[in-house]
Amino acid sequence: MSQLSENLKRLVRERAGSRCEYCLSHQDYIMGRLQIDHILPISKGGQDTEENLCLACELCNQYKWNKIVATDPETNQVTSLFNPR
Ligand SMILES: [Zn+2]
Repeated sequence: MSQLSENLKRLVRERAGSRCEYCLSHQDYIMGRLQIDHILPISKGGQDTEENLCLACELCNQYKWNKIVATDPETNQVTSLFNPR
């Protein structure tokens, strides 16, 4: 578990405008608090840097988990997941 500074957390939340950066749901319309996600997961070498962090709702964050690619259901090809940066 990484320890993000309060300043970095605030920066990520303000930059995202209180929206999930994957599905764009606003904080006012989701259950729970938006979470800070590592775009490139720590388990895959991601860092606690401003460029590697984004705001995500619990559903997006849990669905993405530590993945960076997935199989496109229409083409059946492995493709990179959306990167909000
Ligand atoms: Zn979301």
